Amino acid sequence: MSFAKNLVYSRLKLLNKYSRSVNTSAIRLQNVQQVTTGKRICIVGAGPAGFYAAQYLLKQLSDCTVDIVEKLPVPFGLVRFGVAPDHPEVKNVINTFTKTAENPRLRFFGNVSLGQDISLQELRQRYHAVLLTYGADQDRELQLQNEQEQHVISARKFVAWYNGLPGAEQLQPDLSGRDVTIVGQGNVAVDVARVLLSPIDKLKITDTTEYALEALARSQVQRVHLVGRRGPLQAAFTIKELREMLKLPNVTTNWRSSDFTGIAEQLEQLQRPRRRLTELMLKSLSEQSTRSSTAAAGRQFLPVFLRAPKAISAKEMEFAVTQLREGVAVATDATECLPADLILRSIGYKSSCADAGINFDPQRGHVRHEQGRVLKDGEEKSVEPGLYVAGWLASGPTGVILTTMNGAFAVAKTICDDITAKAFDTASTKPGFEVGSQRIVSWDGWLRIDQQECEAGKSKGKPREKIVDIEHMLTIAGV
Ligand SMILES: Cc1cc2nc3c(=O)[nH]c(=O)nc-3n(C[C@H](O)[C@H](O)[C@H](O)COP(=O)(O)OP(=O)(O)OC[C@H]3O[C@@H](n4cnc5c(N)ncnc54)[C@H](O)[C@@H]3O)c2cc1C
Repeated sequence: MSFAKNLVYSRLKLLNKYSRSVNTSAIRLQNVQQVTTGKRICIVGAGPAGFYAAQYLLKQLSDCTVDIVEKLPVPFGLVRFGVAPDHPEVKNVINTFTKTAENPRLRFFGNVSLGQDISLQELRQRYHAVLLTYGADQDRELQLQNEQEQHVISARKFVAWYNGLPGAEQLQPDLSGRDVTIVGQGNVAVDVARVLLSPIDKLKITDTTEYALEALARSQVQRVHLVGRRGPLQAAFTIKELREMLKLPNVTTNWRSSDFTGIAEQLEQLQRPRRRLTELMLKSLSEQSTRSSTAAAGRQFLPVFLRAPKAISAKEMEFAVTQLREGVAVATDATECLPADLILRSIGYKSSCADAGINFDPQRGHVRHEQGRVLKDGEEKSVEPGLYVAGWLASGPTGVILTTMNGAFAVAKTICDDITAKAFDTASTKPGFEVGSQRIVSWDGWLRIDQQECEAGKSKGKPREKIVDIEHMLTIAGV
């Protein structure tokens, strides 16, 4: 079917399906159809990198149209499925993304997965440029025996569970034990610790999924160890996250004073953010000794430094005691076991290779590129014309949304520069995405899902109740 016929077909299909409500998707498709002479750019992945890149491209290139292809029926990537539910202010970036999506030169194609529903080769034939921003949806493993046991789960899966990622509702983490040990000390690890230790009433007013709230309300977890290989000066969490932990009602934080030997003496040499974080840890440590015994009766947050994971058993986890040599943690022969009814591995995310045509580095878990230009397979210096990568898929899973935004803007600028330099073909006519028999969620389809979620949340005093079943999402979206 030709592209023009396809648009008519999809318009009719949409109009039939959504005849009960005002339909603007068809109008939007029509608008896009009018701009046939401009540059067609496809972005794969509707997370922060995708939306920020789209925002930049639409602003800088007045004759371009941008299509965002997203695996899930719903947009926003880790802003929806990663950011902690008790951090609603972080999710405000969704408003900016929504404004970008409302641009008539942007189309959203939800429920379309690169590598499954469409190949990279096909996308490259249909667009002048393709920007890959499909993130990092796998996790790094400890490579220890027994890691596949039921009581060992990744923080990624646990986060996805409380945040309602489709499929993650099956996780059913066992929260019947008293002790949880989290391996890793980044902000994701602290998010997980906070969710486990927070009073349930604090979570009830967030968009934590209902099934997770029910499980957390029944939770018997009393103590959460947060274990890192290195020392307090290398702690990966940031001050905001630590402050929140220290302020959690009915939770006491207990540091090990031995971890802080010689730390106060180094304060002066530290850069300001690191110094402030360390000062806060030292302050909290000093308050520990003066705390009354009743205050220590509730749940406990127990950061442990200088321990490297060594072995996993049914109720505990063994760690090697480490020493720091030039900032690197080196395991000694000494060991320590920590109680662990549940073990949460939080040592980072990694990307996967969605399509065989992507020059992917499996070791480092990201796409090989030079300043966002994807490199040709086996050739270090030459780039694939018109193929780009941004976000966590390019950088690896580091940094916050702001970092992702800056990276995405930089790659979008590179695309604009390459167009000016005629580094890839923009003269020929490209058809863009072909709406075939797939069940595709348009932006208006997402708005319908959004509306239902917000309405369902309102009755429970929550900002939204996320729908986790894909089929249900598609039905609401009208496809
Ligand atoms: C648990 C957690 C909590 C965080 N909390 C914060 C915070 O509080 N504040 C902050 O600033 N940052 C936070 N971050 C970091 C922030 O989420 C990232 O910086 C940002 O989401 C990275 O954006 P991205 O677009 O590269 O990837 P993602 O957000 O992962 O977006 C990728 C998108 O691509 C889609 N996709 C995947 N595969 C395919 C495919 N084959 N085809 C089509 N689409 C596909 C995904 O569904 C997703 O929508 C957090 C991260 C995590 C993991």
